[in-house]
Amino acid sequence: VPGTTVKPRVVVIGGGFAGLFAARAMRRADVEVTLLDRAGHHLFQPLLYQCATGILSEGQIAAPLRELLKKHHNVEFLVAEVEDIDARRQVVGAVRPGGARIELPYDHLVVAAGVRQSYFGHDEYAQWAPGMKTIADALTIRRKVFGAFELAESATDDEERRRWLTFALVGGGPTGVELAGQIRELATKTLRAEYRKIRPEDARVLLFDGGTQPLAAFGPNLAGRAAKRLEELGVELMMESRVTSVDAGGLVVSSGDGALTRFEAGTVLWTAGVAAPPFAHALAAATGAETDRAGRIKVEPDLTVPGHPEIAVVGDVMNCTDLPGLAEVAMQSGAYAGRRIRHLVAGKEHQKPFHYIDLGSAAYISRGRAIISAGPIKLSGRLGWLSWLFIHIAFLTGYRNRFTAVLTWFVAFSRDMRRERAFTTQGIHSDRDVYARSGPPAPVVLPRAPAEASPAGVHPTGGAGPQPET
Ligand SMILES: Cc1cc2nc3c(=O)[nH]c(=O)nc-3n(C[C@H](O)[C@H](O)[C@H](O)COP(=O)(O)OP(=O)(O)OC[C@H]3O[C@@H](n4cnc5c(N)ncnc54)[C@H](O)[C@@H]3O)c2cc1C
Repeated sequence: VPGTTVKPRVVVIGGGFAGLFAARAMRRADVEVTLLDRAGHHLFQPLLYQCATGILSEGQIAAPLRELLKKHHNVEFLVAEVEDIDARRQVVGAVRPGGARIELPYDHLVVAAGVRQSYFGHDEYAQWAPGMKTIADALTIRRKVFGAFELAESATDDEERRRWLTFALVGGGPTGVELAGQIRELATKTLRAEYRKIRPEDARVLLFDGGTQPLAAFGPNLAGRAAKRLEELGVELMMESRVTSVDAGGLVVSSGDGALTRFEAGTVLWTAGVAAPPFAHALAAATGAETDRAGRIKVEPDLTVPGHPEIAVVGDVMNCTDLPGLAEVAMQSGAYAGRRIRHLVAGKEHQKPFHYIDLGSAAYISRGRAIISAGPIKLSGRLGWLSWLFIHIAFLTGYRNRFTAVLTWFVAFSRDMRRERAFTTQGIHSDRDVYARSGPPAPVVLPRAPAEASPAGVHPTGGAGPQPET
């Protein structure tokens, strides 16, 4: 707008890996960047499970965006949630904390809003089975997990005690596996000598997935080794099962033969699927962009929305030749979009289409055990774990976080100690809530339900199956 600025205005939505790398790539560009995030921090999602299970604090996995961007003098950061877009006027509408609305005009827009947990059309499960995408989710899970052991200790009968000592995890991708392994390690190592009435090591951890193996994306060999290690840890693998309902006291699953089984579990955690955030729907409606089944925006080879070269979509919320939802994809796509804008405003030649360099993926199973798959390189066991450690230290954003995480891991891994066990009891469901219905149902095998009367398969292609996890 003449009189206010002469530099092109770039708005970046989201300060995750993709948004942060986009903003960093424009550091020396002759543009004015505004980065918006509904939270004030950049979150290292791959370590959320360690925050949830008491190893790391929230400050160790989340760095203030303001601090990360302080040397990027052309980047302004605002905490606000973007809600809508007018693609014709080139304006996004956002809401500041407290509810006031702001509008931001842009010449270039980078959408890096990530994805959220999907309950496959059953959002009501979320109240009983939290997902794991944000710090708030990790702290909720921490409260539920540590709270369950406390409720088991003070339980007045064996049935209640058993229920609080049963943890059901839905989704056999890396996050479900990591949580399952951590809860068993917690029970058998950290908490072992701390209770007087219960034996924490009696805790059952049930891992449900629609596939035949957890971590199927790693291929049968690595997935098989991971499954073996999980079983050694005491995780009960409930494969080929689809969750058909979740409530305060547990869940019902349908097995391959269609039989419905109820499992009493005081804690149900959900890591089974992802969906694009509401803003992606607003963007698709405003631009006519095509979306995939999860609502992710299908982009051109240069990561822009078809017909809108001024709008790039990067990271988890983009669908670019079905690339997986991985941190490395988000970093590379974000950096690409930032560079593209830098070149455009400098009048340089249009760069090549986005090409993802696959650096592989990893999953942590337990202390001393992880699996890594990077092209032809397949690692498991201790070597996998050491590589996991190295990769995570290298990628933890910010020197302070990296340094304290290494120290904390040293204590946690050498002495089975978890220092981050503070939790509040607010929001923990009491036994009264659980059985407000009609008294506790025993774990029963229900008669096979006719297909159309079944309590709604949670997903058209198979419930809590091995959904692409981000
Ligand atoms: C539990 C878990 C474990 C994972 N483990 C691994 C792993 O081991 N290896 C790996 O490679 N990947 C892993 N991933 C995936 C990886 O974290 C993601 O691929 C990556 O974070 C995607 O980056 P992003 O920037 O696209 O999205 P995100 O990191 O999700 O960032 C999106 C940002 O946008 C903000 N936002 C969203 N909507 C709005 C809005 N409307 N207005 C303003 N701001 C908004 C959010 O607050 C957030 O900061 C894991 C993910 C999870 C959840």
